[in-house]
Amino acid sequence: MSTQWVAHKFGGTSLADADAYRAVTAIIRGSGHPRQAVVVSAAAGMTDGLIELVSRAGRRDTTFEELSQSLRERQVALVEELLAGSGPNDLIAGIDKDFADIEDVLRASSVMGAALENAIGAVAGFGEVWSARLLAAHLRSEDVPAAMLDAREILVVTPAEMAPVVDWDTSAANLESWLAENTEDVVVITGFIASDPTGAPTTLGRNGSDYSASIFSSLLEARELIIWTDVDGVMSADPRLVPQAEVLEELSYDEAMELAYFGAKVIHPATMTPAIRSNIPVTIRNTFNPSAPGTRLTPESSVDVPVKGFASIGDMALVNLEGTAMIGVPGISERLFGSLREAGVSVVMISQGSSEHSICFAVPETHAMRARAAVEQAFAAERQRGLLQDIEVTPGCTILAAVGDGMSGTPGIAARLFGSLVRAGVNVKAIAQGSSERNISVVIDGADATRALRAVHSGFYLSRQTLSIGLIGPGHVGGTLLDQMAGRLDSLMSEFGVDLRVRAIATSTTMVLDEHRIDLANWRERLHGGDAATLPVDLDMLADYVHTESVPHAAIIDCSASADIASRYDDWLSQGIHVITPNKKANSGDLDYYRSLQQSARRADAHYFYETTVGAALPVIQTLRDLVQTGDQVHRIEGVFSGTLSYLFNSFDGSTPFSEIVRAARDKGYTEPDPREDLSGMDVARKVVILAREMGVEASLDDMEIEGLIPAGLEKGTVDEFLDRLADHDAEMLDIVEKARSSGRVLRFVGVIEPEDGCQVSLRSYDTDHPFARIRLTDNIVTFQTARYSENPLVVQGPGAGPEVTAGGVFADLLRLANYLGATL
Ligand code: ADP
Ligand code: ASP
Ligand code: MG
Repeated sequence: MSTQWVAHKFGGTSLADADAYRAVTAIIRGSGHPRQAVVVSAAAGMTDGLIELVSRAGRRDTTFEELSQSLRERQVALVEELLAGSGPNDLIAGIDKDFADIEDVLRASSVMGAALENAIGAVAGFGEVWSARLLAAHLRSEDVPAAMLDAREILVVTPAEMAPVVDWDTSAANLESWLAENTEDVVVITGFIASDPTGAPTTLGRNGSDYSASIFSSLLEARELIIWTDVDGVMSADPRLVPQAEVLEELSYDEAMELAYFGAKVIHPATMTPAIRSNIPVTIRNTFNPSAPGTRLTPESSVDVPVKGFASIGDMALVNLEGTAMIGVPGISERLFGSLREAGVSVVMISQGSSEHSICFAVPETHAMRARAAVEQAFAAERQRGLLQDIEVTPGCTILAAVGDGMSGTPGIAARLFGSLVRAGVNVKAIAQGSSERNISVVIDGADATRALRAVHSGFYLSRQTLSIGLIGPGHVGGTLLDQMAGRLDSLMSEFGVDLRVRAIATSTTMVLDEHRIDLANWRERLHGGDAATLPVDLDMLADYVHTESVPHAAIIDCSASADIASRYDDWLSQGIHVITPNKKANSGDLDYYRSLQQSARRADAHYFYETTVGAALPVIQTLRDLVQTGDQVHRIEGVFSGTLSYLFNSFDGSTPFSEIVRAARDKGYTEPDPREDLSGMDVARKVVILAREMGVEASLDDMEIEGLIPAGLEKGTVDEFLDRLADHDAEMLDIVEKARSSGRVLRFVGVIEPEDGCQVSLRSYDTDHPFARIRLTDNIVTFQTARYSENPLVVQGPGAGPEVTAGGVFADLLRLANYLGATL
């Protein structure tokens, strides 16, 4: 037979609706291979529906008629949508005829009052027949010469306990004669179905289309088999359970088998054997993302990671046998498992300690009672003599398996696995490790399954310093921060293992969420590009999303100036979400709230960083904290805390009226849009409160003396009116500055904190040789007079405003957080 065949298999998800068919046809058309074999499944859910029909009929449940009607309608609708106008009548007539046959079987089942195996065999495979006919017709309608092959006419199998056994010679001969008659480029083949040696229709078992594809690729000696599904390949875990799962580039056959056996249903165990034996390369790819390279199955794994993936099977029962009867007695296991085999119970996992005092095994929950009865019977004598205790059955269990060829000979894998489970609070009921060391399996409570999977996945797949980050307020500071991060993410990851994943960004109206990470090279387009993926902002949803179980740590960065957002920190910190912010509202607001933030953070082991609330990125808060924590006595802090007011008074020497300086500063964007927000002194007062509280002083805005710079009567009105009327007060300001100058002094707007005497915010004058007199532009300067720094104060000085420095300070807080979480930066 020619080797120019390429074989494909499209699963039910790739044939579930008309768009999916179009995607399939496009792939076949675009592949450019001269001969293609295309094995198809039934539309997703169709096989379930057909089997359900038989079982309802067997129970004499008359609702099978409605179900039959709706299955028919679904299949007909597909035909109508795909082949509108190009004569779908034959196909619909075919479906109607098949339903007439199905109804005959159903009626017989109903009369018998049982869903017999051969009735299921006769009905279950129609979904594949309809898929194959429709795809062949759709290909032809797109000018691709295609024939449909009904596998029941070719493939002969003998049903067997594990998987049906293929009669290769007969099947090959059948195929050869079929191909002699049918020379179309593309052959669309029904998956899942075959005939038994008597010629009766049968199936290859649930999910059997993979097996069909593997068999046909072997019969055709295809050069390649591509299993097309609805995900980008085999992933490190089921993506529906572990959103952070990653596509595996390569997987050895053995790894694939183990993963599949333990529930990764993307490919099926043993089914690949025919293809593998014929050395046919197999890849798993995404019908809906055909440009993704997919996962290669290879004889040996060349990718050097110990654990490739995790899988789980639910609805298991753990059966435990305990007693002295088993100690040192040969043949116990044989008797035990022999009895289970006779009872038709499939044992998924076995674990026996070396004391031989107990043995436990996991079986599907539906087999649990049968298993108990079989074991009780097999060991009746021992039980009577009290040598065996009661057989314990624990239903509701899940088996979780870690799979990877590289586990063998790599120390510490089990420790890491159990460490992750312990941290997630998951109790392990039983453990088994195959001697191949390709698989470690644990039995856990089913209710813990998803949490456990996420925990072990992040334990192996993510850096311990992987942070799920939500950023609120991507304005001047927040936006600059995202840009700064964009340039650093790769080297932080490669050099320090710090993996910063911004997964949410919210403005005051909209937000974007991304399961993996928002690409920071184009976050603006994502957020403002009218992308349908943006959502109306919902901060609870954002917090839940950021605080995902599948990433080790969560942090929210609040770059807004909103009191409303600040009011949520307590909730976030209590949940263990770290909070980083330059927003002053929380720390300078209600004192009780401030206290509860500190407590919540401590209780939940969450970190709360806000260095940039005072002096932008200047190390003001950290310096103060170091002084206090190391036992220094802080007597007085005095400082210029507002970059804006610093600029105004650094510029105001009397030569230009004060109101002009304010107006010019506003025009350059140096002040808030309404300069009164700066001139009121509130911003300085907030910073003073923050520092005072950091020293343990119970300060609040209400009991502080604030001598602001807004002349009485100008508090209200528009900004323009304010600026106009401020000129009326230029003479007063000139007077103040002249008076200061005449005694060799300059004006500075400052905040002062004295633990004994309280806090003040006011305009003061300083000698020209005072450090405050020598600051420039928007500099901040803070002096700390302490017991240790008594002669000469400790001074922190530098630019204290502007998006670049402030964002840099927030970024530094974020890295400080990573350090606290264990990074060594
Ligand atoms: P098909 O219709 O193509 O046969 P299935 O629904 O049977 O598709 O299998 C594909 C699904 O398997 C994926 O959508 C995914 O949800 C699930 N799945 C479970 N475990 C894994 C895994 N480890 N990797 C990829 N997919 C997995
Ligand atoms: N349609 C069959 C099933 O659902 C076979 C398959 O999809 O692989 O089991
Ligand atoms: Mg499948």
